Amino acid sequence: MHIDIITTLPKLVESPFSDSILKRAQAKGIVTVNVIDLRQYATNKHRTTDDYAFGGGAGMVMMIEPIDNCIADLKSKREYDDIIYMSPDGQRLNQALANELSLKKNLILLCGHYKGVDERVREHLITREISIGDYVLSGGELAAAVVADAVIRLIPGVLSDETSALSDSFQDDLIAPPVYTRPAEYKGWKVPDVLLSGHATKIDEWRHEQSLERTRQRRPELLK
Ligand code: SAH
Repeated sequence: MHIDIITTLPKLVESPFSDSILKRAQAKGIVTVNVIDLRQYATNKHRTTDDYAFGGGAGMVMMIEPIDNCIADLKSKREYDDIIYMSPDGQRLNQALANELSLKKNLILLCGHYKGVDERVREHLITREISIGDYVLSGGELAAAVVADAVIRLIPGVLSDETSALSDSFQDDLIAPPVYTRPAEYKGWKVPDVLLSGHATKIDEWRHEQSLERTRQRRPELLK
């Protein structure tokens, strides 16, 4: 998979991809994440990418031309499955959407800033809009990193134990069961006996029951 992230603040997006699972995914050649500084595509001499809003009002608006030039340049090099604008009023990110995106080959994530992008970008240049939740961030960078993280860890080979993503919360519409590690007893607080029994079938059954119980308690709406 190849992900291009377009931003005016490259540093804000780079760090999540330079550690741990996301770093290893790139080292293994499973995914490439390319952070593109939109200012490279600015056409005026001050390299600005935003301007005042027509009609007045507070807040700057990201101009269409640098974004158009940037996307056109990227499209000349590869074909994209989706060109995604990060937006609080977009389709809400959930595990099903992450699963869907993990099957794509090439994606662009466009990060807005200030008041957002000129509406014509949304009308003509992108294919989809994603929100990470009903709250407003100051920029799309953190949201793009969230989307990329949720998607990349689902690609086979990224997590060392391949089944591990499948047992996470929201796969199969269930919440993950509780997990424990050594010591088996701490300050008198014990790990459930079944997990120490070495009985694989019983452990699987217990985990499934726990998942169901947790889902009933915490997220009953998932159990349609
Ligand atoms: N004026 C806009 C908010 C702009 S916030 C509005 O009221 O809808 C600035 C940028 O942050 C947006 O362009 C978008 O790229 C990003 N952003 C903010 N909140 C987000 C969210 N919940 N999900 C995804 N991106 C978000």
